[in-house]
Amino acid sequence: MKTPSAEAETGEHAAPEPRPSNFIRDIILDDLKTNKYAGRVQTRFPPEPNGYLHIGHAKAICLDFGLADEFGGHTNLRFDDTNPAKEETEYVESIKADVQWLGYQWDGLYYASDYFDQLYEWALKLIRDGKAYVDDLSAEEIRKHRGTLTEPGKDSPYRDRSVEENANLLERMKAGEFPDGSRVLRAKIDMASPNLNFRDPVMYRILHAEHHRTGRKWCIYPMYDFAHGQSDSLEKVTHSMCTLEFEDHRPLYNWFIQQLGIFPSQQIEFDRLNLTHTLLSKRKLLQLVQEGRVRGWDDPRMPTISGIRRRGCTPEAIRNFCASIGVSKTTGSIELAMFEHFIREDLNKRSPRVMAVLRPLKVVIDNYLENQTEEMDAVNNPEDENAGSRKVPFSRVLYIEQDDFREVPPPKYFRLTPGREVRLRYGYFITCTSVMKNAAGEVVEVHCTYDPATRGGNAPDGRKVKATIHWVSAAHAVDAEVRVYENLFSKEDPADVEPGQDVLDNLNPNSLEIISDAKVEPSLANAAAGSRYQFERLGYFCADPDSKPSKPVFNRTVALKDTWARVERKQTGKN
Ligand code: ATP
Ligand code: MG
Repeated sequence: MKTPSAEAETGEHAAPEPRPSNFIRDIILDDLKTNKYAGRVQTRFPPEPNGYLHIGHAKAICLDFGLADEFGGHTNLRFDDTNPAKEETEYVESIKADVQWLGYQWDGLYYASDYFDQLYEWALKLIRDGKAYVDDLSAEEIRKHRGTLTEPGKDSPYRDRSVEENANLLERMKAGEFPDGSRVLRAKIDMASPNLNFRDPVMYRILHAEHHRTGRKWCIYPMYDFAHGQSDSLEKVTHSMCTLEFEDHRPLYNWFIQQLGIFPSQQIEFDRLNLTHTLLSKRKLLQLVQEGRVRGWDDPRMPTISGIRRRGCTPEAIRNFCASIGVSKTTGSIELAMFEHFIREDLNKRSPRVMAVLRPLKVVIDNYLENQTEEMDAVNNPEDENAGSRKVPFSRVLYIEQDDFREVPPPKYFRLTPGREVRLRYGYFITCTSVMKNAAGEVVEVHCTYDPATRGGNAPDGRKVKATIHWVSAAHAVDAEVRVYENLFSKEDPADVEPGQDVLDNLNPNSLEIISDAKVEPSLANAAAGSRYQFERLGYFCADPDSKPSKPVFNRTVALKDTWARVERKQTGKN
């Protein structure tokens, strides 16, 4: 799954890009000024290992690691592994690899399950302090007792159990005496609180399940709210960033910390990343994988870090994108085109240019010698003068793109058509003289003549042509498979569904096109998986791990056309 180029980038340290401040950075600056945490900045990235990371997580990662880096602080990677039913070691490993590939290295590596013993002790302490009780109500009854935003909740009949009884019941819950769902441990706070999270939240539930790290040691597991703040506190996290849906949980986060008298970590919420045409939910992405709607978590159409990597995007492009979107307190949606713009900007600088023909049409140059081959000089990257040049073989029979020829040209079509002269990139001027058709009347071969005086692409007499097209020499070309991707979801908001429909009904049926008979220049025969190129005039492509010697497979990372740049130009009124 990890491509060699991904390997090479692993461990590359992310230099903090200069960026405008944001409200979280301002809070940290303020805390440094007032010496709130003795000048320390410590953050954590707390994924639940129940799936692969996606681009939304990248935003959180860049924030957690980026801010700590900027202020000489530390960042822990902590797995929030409190739900054994859905968590797996495969996910833990993929998450570690993805964080490193993004260019970040954690200081401490922890698991919420490291703290299970301590959390249990703290639960007993809250019982002793009269702040927690064992409830025998079912989940359904607890829900009914909770009340609503407009109505207060009702106390459970078990709320006033004695300390001894509660401690004894919790110990027996832990010892495995009771079945799943039969009892829970709840905090004793306030069933009438306007904040529903304060209405005696559940702290522990019974779950007889094998945990990927603690095995069968536990059959009671702490809830997120009873694990997260305390884990932060144990690690002396100063600034604990999470997404806005946890805003209403913050009072509870603080309540547990206060009751236990432990290190006061501070929770700060920011907006989740949403991208148009994209689903960012591990649960939904898992469904795509399980139902075979995609080829796996690292399918290049997936918004997972591993999918985006396989598609050919670099960690720098992701980091630049995340820096540019910033953080706020209101959730919106970012155009997928904007992300693609950052991918293009980055690939433009680093990708060697090559020639590849996705839908080949044969061109025969009738006045070119039958067995002659020439080596044409081709520039590797006009954006990078150190990239040098290479030789591309030219011969009598070439392939060009079917789209670059029209027997009957539409208005403003300047490419090849009978009687017209065009430039072959790094080659000669050619003029179309005739075509050959198959029985169905389709053009299968185009005949041309070339002007030997135009070698390299310019006419000594100064005559101009209106189009330059790319090509490969038929005798030298290598067959390649090219996978062309479109948005995975047709709708801008995949969650926008008709009654009775599911987000999966919004999947784009044309999100993957496999072109199995593309022709690429010979330098690509053994392209190493993960190598990135610009196929001239087509887009950015990346060699897939499915490549075999002399049979490379390429993923289209993005096409060249930048719709975001156009939007931006419109917005700024520039051309
Ligand atoms: P998902 O719904 O995709 O499973 P999650 O929030 O449950 O996401 P976690 O593994 O709990 O995933 O998230 C780890 C961290 O990443 C959390 O701090 C969470 O707030 C953050 N995060 C998750 N999704 C996004 C997103 N779309 N944008 C920004 N941050 C996110
Ligand atoms: Mg989660």
